[in-house]
Amino acid sequence: MSDPKETILEIDLGALEHNYHFLKSRLNPNTKFLAVVKAFAYGSEAIAIAKKMEALGVDYFAVAYTKEGAILRDQGITTPILVLHPQPVNFPELIDRCLEPSLYSARVLKAFMEAAKDSHQTDYPVHLKFNTGLNRLGFWENDVAHVTARLKDCKELKVVSLFSHLAASDDVTEGAFNKRQIERFTAITKKLENIWEHKPMYHLLNTSGILNYPEGQFDMVRSGIGLYGYSNDPSIDKKLKAVGTLKTVISQIHNIAAEETVGYNRAYTAPGFRKIATLPLGHADGIGRIYGNARGTVMINGKQAPIIGNVCMDMLMVDITGIPCQEGDEVVLFGKGHSAEEVAAGASTISYELLTGISQRVKRIILS
Ligand SMILES: *Cc1c(COP(=O)(O)O)cnc(C)c1O
Repeated sequence: MSDPKETILEIDLGALEHNYHFLKSRLNPNTKFLAVVKAFAYGSEAIAIAKKMEALGVDYFAVAYTKEGAILRDQGITTPILVLHPQPVNFPELIDRCLEPSLYSARVLKAFMEAAKDSHQTDYPVHLKFNTGLNRLGFWENDVAHVTARLKDCKELKVVSLFSHLAASDDVTEGAFNKRQIERFTAITKKLENIWEHKPMYHLLNTSGILNYPEGQFDMVRSGIGLYGYSNDPSIDKKLKAVGTLKTVISQIHNIAAEETVGYNRAYTAPGFRKIATLPLGHADGIGRIYGNARGTVMINGKQAPIIGNVCMDMLMVDITGIPCQEGDEVVLFGKGHSAEEVAAGASTISYELLTGISQRVKRIILS
């Protein structure tokens, strides 16, 4: 733990290692592990996370967009990188950086075949994405004939994996739907079985899928949120460790009388004498206005203090009445000792959104 002098996001690589081993312990020994490091590794620091995961022997990485993968290559990451949602305009760069596209529609398949031909590729590794119920990206089961026809005699591409994504893997009331997706995915793999010279890997599960549907592991799983310490399941969250802890310091303390107001639009009115603290981070750092007016809390010396009034761009104010603390003291916004999942719930959102929203203005400190 470091003692912050300003707003920092502390990134604990030991916690990452712990979470990786925990998730691996839920897998069959031969199941490969893909670490999802999109969106700056869920708002943390993609390069440090990817280097650590590479050192731990992870099998694959995934990012959402080409540029995210190119940054990892620039920093010397050599593990295969799946680009989940590439846009055809970026295919030359994607090929140039040895990134592996998810091909999810006839349009994208055609565009990638042309790009691969233009750059004289043979057996370029690609991944086919099938839609089994999320209805977001992917070929449909009845596209199998089209896909087969396009790939037949296509020397430029080599399909290294076939995958799909669950719509509600974290929702215990959706067991039947998830099972149907597993069945649909299995049916698609069977329909394509005979077209491969080398059988590609099959993969379906994200973090909650790993925890709730072990029968859907196939050859590989794709985990993001679990690696960062959250699982969408409070009982599992206890066994994981938060990788990112957002910390800051108290800039200034004010004592205010009853009827005084705090912040823009005078959104908070003190009901009596109050001690309040101003913190050096705001919505431009990723703590949205939604967390204002007591929907969010921070931790100061082990006690919860509500955010009062409107969150400003660069600052926010908290009520520290009754909490022993002084200017310069450490404040935890989320992370160790203050679960991002619980903080996010106060604003009716999920840990994913809070974590990935932390802006690049916040200094990242790596604890190795
Ligand atoms: C983001 C993403 C994941 C990771 O999901 P988690 O819930 O964070 O484990 C896996 N697969 C796909 C296709 C994704 O977009």
